[in-house]
Amino acid sequence: MKGDGAMGPNRSKALLEREPRFDDMAVSLLAMPRLPKAMVKETKQAVELARRFNDTVVRPYALELDRKKHEDPDFLPWEFVEEANRWGLYTLCIPTLFGGQGVNFPALSYVLEELGSACTGMSNLVGVHYLGVATLCASWNMRLMNKVMRDTAEGEKTGEPCLISLAITEPGAGTDVEEVDLVSKAQVACQAKKVKGGYVVNGRKIFISNGHLSYWHMLVCYEDLKNPQDTVIMLAIHNGMKGFSFGRQERKMGQKGCPASELIFEDCFVPDDLVCINPAQGKKLKRSMKETHMQVIDYIVAASRAGVGAFGVGVARGAYEEALRFAGETEVDGKLLINHEWAQCMLAEMYKNVAVGRLTYEEANYANDLLGMFKVLEWKPIFYYLKYMPKPIMDKVIQPFLNLGAVTWLFRKIYFDWQKETDYQCSSGWGSLSKFTATDIGVKNGQLALEMMGRAGLRHDRGAEKHLRDSKLLQIYEGTNQLNRLNLFKCLIGRDVPGARVFEE
Ligand SMILES: Cc1cc2nc3c(=O)[nH]c(=O)nc-3n(C[C@H](O)[C@H](O)[C@H](O)COP(=O)(O)OP(=O)(O)OC[C@H]3O[C@@H](n4cnc5c(N)ncnc54)[C@H](O)[C@@H]3O)c2cc1C
Repeated sequence: MKGDGAMGPNRSKALLEREPRFDDMAVSLLAMPRLPKAMVKETKQAVELARRFNDTVVRPYALELDRKKHEDPDFLPWEFVEEANRWGLYTLCIPTLFGGQGVNFPALSYVLEELGSACTGMSNLVGVHYLGVATLCASWNMRLMNKVMRDTAEGEKTGEPCLISLAITEPGAGTDVEEVDLVSKAQVACQAKKVKGGYVVNGRKIFISNGHLSYWHMLVCYEDLKNPQDTVIMLAIHNGMKGFSFGRQERKMGQKGCPASELIFEDCFVPDDLVCINPAQGKKLKRSMKETHMQVIDYIVAASRAGVGAFGVGVARGAYEEALRFAGETEVDGKLLINHEWAQCMLAEMYKNVAVGRLTYEEANYANDLLGMFKVLEWKPIFYYLKYMPKPIMDKVIQPFLNLGAVTWLFRKIYFDWQKETDYQCSSGWGSLSKFTATDIGVKNGQLALEMMGRAGLRHDRGAEKHLRDSKLLQIYEGTNQLNRLNLFKCLIGRDVPGARVFEE
């Protein structure tokens, strides 16, 4: 029998006495005093830039791109990518150490919200590049981080965009590759076999955002397909490598502007110097490769799910703004809709949804600042050192040191060996909380906007139906919202509850 009695007195006592950890419940309170003040001004400037970009580029083009892509699914929005590159959006949050502009990473969420309020597809055309950046950074291979991110900086100077994508999803493995306890049950088929001087890769990746538009691709594959959790390997692939080609683009219901690409590997040789991390390097770390694998995933998703949360808030805001505009210009029953109480209640609900969603991605970013991927960059001495160090000194004096193995060793000590499990679980849990809360809110506001607008909401030229179509995809990528709920349970609830098991065999 499984009931109260069956739990036994000790376990039920432990459950009742369990109090939330202070660092889980008040991560923003703990983070705020430690963060550099200059982050506020930087963030404000980044939001202003995004608003100008929206007015000049995104809004005038959003519906046209959606239509173009609907009519020609193979169309690639190079014009937009080149424009975003000219505006500096692809180097905005790349640290100055690697040739970027060095705006703090949490500022990116506010930028993505702004862009997403006008067009989530275009917001993804910018945002998913930073998913590639986050994946590259999660290996803490400083030499490769320097090489790849400097290519993006160079691409800004030359006007040839150099974007980075993340390729992890396969035809037989989606949500499960984002959780180490599930990957062993997934049907992974993308394999990297060790050969002299490198690896030979075979397999396919699908649904890779920006795939066709990116030059670099962070490829997650496995040495042993029967034991993927212990043999994960991350490679940096670039266009033009022999054996690497693009397949089809998916035909999707929303975010049409952002391609979801198939990447094909047929005996693709990848030299050793493009290995971000592999089991041989993992052996030098304190934890097992399986645990390191989970740490890498947690660093990536804790940061990227806050970004997807920001997309959710953006699309929720876009829908709210359409509904507000409609209510302010439409007469119903002899008076403006906005003066009907029911409409005011609906608009208040939508406004609340936006505000609550924003709080979740802010909290997730505080967790990343304090305990996750950004903790070194946003440590005051490092932050100001990178901000005010003259560029020529950074490029000529500091940069060569990044190629030293000792620098990668130090960063891996900080981020892997010296990192507490509860710390990376805290940021991962908050990332999931933001992801499913804010994206559910995005869909909810899309529905409310259409409910309020009647037939006008269904018209392509109003934009409201596009927000609803765009929002649905957010509930699926970066792990479905169901999986994110399970991850929250695992990271913030279950770990302290005796007997609780998540992702069990
Ligand atoms: C527009 C778009 C862009 C994308 N971009 C990228 C990208 O850039 N790079 C990349 O690598 N991938 C990308 N993806 C893939 C994306 O991350 C996966 O689609 C996502 O993780 C969900 O996986 P899946 O589609 O295979 O669904 P599945 O994992 O097959 O899920 C199907 C259903 O089963 C449920 N489920 C799955 N596992 C469990 C479990 N253990 N317990 C309970 N329920 C479970 C899910 O919640 C869902 O309801 C993208 C996807 C989309 C739609």
